Parts: sequence; structure tokens; C-alpha cells
Amino acid sequence: MNKENFTRRILKWYDKEQRILPWRDNPNPYYVWVSEIMLQQTRVEAVIPYFNHFIEKLPTIKDLANVEDNVLLKLWEGLGYYNRARNLKKTANIIVTKYNGIIPSSTDDLITLPGIGPYTSGAIASIAFNKSVPAVDGNVYRVFARLLHITKTIKDKEVKLQIQTKVKNLLPNQRISDFNQALMELGAKVCLPNGAPLCGICPVNSICISYQYNDQNNIPIKQPKKKKKEKDVTVFLLEYNNEIVIEKREDTLLNGLFQFPNIEKKLTLKEVQNLYPKDTVTKIGSTTHIFTHLKWNLTGFHIKQQSKGKTMYVKKDELLSNYPIPTAFSYYKNYYIKENSWIKKEY
Ligand code: SF4
Repeated sequence: MNKENFTRRILKWYDKEQRILPWRDNPNPYYVWVSEIMLQQTRVEAVIPYFNHFIEKLPTIKDLANVEDNVLLKLWEGLGYYNRARNLKKTANIIVTKYNGIIPSSTDDLITLPGIGPYTSGAIASIAFNKSVPAVDGNVYRVFARLLHITKTIKDKEVKLQIQTKVKNLLPNQRISDFNQALMELGAKVCLPNGAPLCGICPVNSICISYQYNDQNNIPIKQPKKKKKEKDVTVFLLEYNNEIVIEKREDTLLNGLFQFPNIEKKLTLKEVQNLYPKDTVTKIGSTTHIFTHLKWNLTGFHIKQQSKGKTMYVKKDELLSNYPIPTAFSYYKNYYIKENSWIKKEY
């Protein structure tokens, strides 16, 4: 693979095909950092509105360092992996106190900060500061596994190192930021993660070994997925006079977020009616939520109470604007917000 030839083709393609993204328009280090954290495990299209809203509410690192946890988690509501948001705030505090509010530019400093690993430090250093370091994310691992026809999993440590070294050796003398982003963009737009890669329009197809072997659909090789642990959860929407009960989670999973009361057990309508004999109980519906290592099978009940309990009741608009509710409960939140008109469609 001739370095100059490869770089020229990749950058030419990027100049023509790159997507317009809010953090690309103005690649200041704060925007690059926030966007990179949001993009972990989340697609670009889904991140854009979150990013714009986040920057509107917290335009500077100082604002992020001082934000209340509830407000921060609300801004993150729906993105999942809430520790990413908590680490952003922790890191903002360190940047304010230790680095005078200025994000450091070296990967050695960046990697010491909470939530910033080898990839993110490389992405911030190269994209925001044009430092000569690689930024190899899942897209880039996939592109190079195909280019080089690597027949081992890209989760393998040696394979990762091989690809990181390859990218490092291909870094151009100029436009490092564009080069790293171009590789990621190629993975996102052409050398696709799901479905067949679009080799016919790929700027580097003439040097791609998998394409030459017509083996691009089998690379990178997939490992069988481990079966996730499953839990049954029954969710209670306890409503009194247009107010709904929520509670704060205190365990490690979804800690600090709010939820509807629930128990880790599947209850029948009859069992819930027995729990709330004076109230009107309606079965809402069932859904699932998949965490990294766990699957929840949720069943929900709407309980219209005759009298108010001693727990925390909130109005609909408060639920929407003040309390971060994790995606695992969004099916029931949406039901409550939209009223129960569509229950009949489900049952
Ligand atoms: Fe990926 Fe196809 Fe391009 Fe090879 S030719 S890098 S498989 S899109």
C-alpha cells in the first residue's frame, strides 16, 4: 500500500463526501471531546440533536463542570451509558482546576482523564489539535481488516495493534485531523458495518485485498454473541390526580436516574390487582430492553389510585423536563405521556 497514493485518495474522497456535522464545522476541543463521548455506542444521526442541545445548555467547559447532576443526566436521557456523562463532568472539573479550563493537547495528558481512553485521546489530539497520532475506532478497525484481509477477529489484541501500527505509518505530514476523520467516515458511509460494503464506490478498492478476493462480506469475521442474562421486571405506573410516582435509582445500574416503581418479577394482572385492591389496574403492555450484558423483559401496569401514597409524585410536564428517565422505561413513559388511547391497539 503506497502511503502517498492511499492518503491522496482518502483525502480527495473526504473533501467531496464528508458529512456536515456540528462538531466538524467548529472543531474546538470541547466540541470534539463531547461529540466523541456521545458517539461511543451511538450513531451520528442520533447524536446530532443531543450534541446541539447539550452545547446550547452547557456552552463551555466551566458550565459542564458546574452543572447539577440531574440536569446533566436529563441532557443525556436516551443516550444510555450514563457513566459517560458523569465522567464528562468529572473531567471538566479536572480541566478547570488542573489545566486552567483548557483541554490538554497531548495524548499522555488526555488519557489520564476519566472517560478518555486510547481512541478518544487520539481523536481529540488529532481532530482538535492536528497532532500526529492515529484515532482508530470500530469503523477504522473494520476498514483495515477488509483492506488487509485479516482473518482473525478485530477484537484480538494483536490484530488491534497491527491495525493501529498500520494507520500510524500511513499518517500524512499534513491534514492529520482530516485523514483520521476520513478513515472513520469511509467506515461509516462506504465500508459499512451492517450489510455489504459499497466497494464499487470505494476510493481505495483497487488496493483492497478482501475486494480482490471477493471476500469483503465475510471480513471482519464475526464471533458468536454470548447469550445475555435475562430478568423479568414488572413496572407500576401509579397515578393519582394526573400525577405519577417516580423514584431515584440508587444501585450501580442506572444509578442516579429516575424510574417508575418496579420489581424484578413477572406479575399477572390478578397479582397486581391483589396488591392494589382499591385501585383501577390496567395492563399496559410488554417490552424488552437490552443492556450490554443483560436483557430486561418488562411488563407494565397502570394503576389509577383512589388516594395518594407517601412516595414522590410528579406532574407530566415535570416528568418531561426535570427528571432523567432511562430508555429502559421509555415505553412506559411514552404511554403515560400520550395517554392510554393506544392501549386498545395492543390488547
Ligand atoms: Fe471496504 Fe470494499 Fe473499500 Fe475494501 S473495497 S475498503 S471492503 S468498501
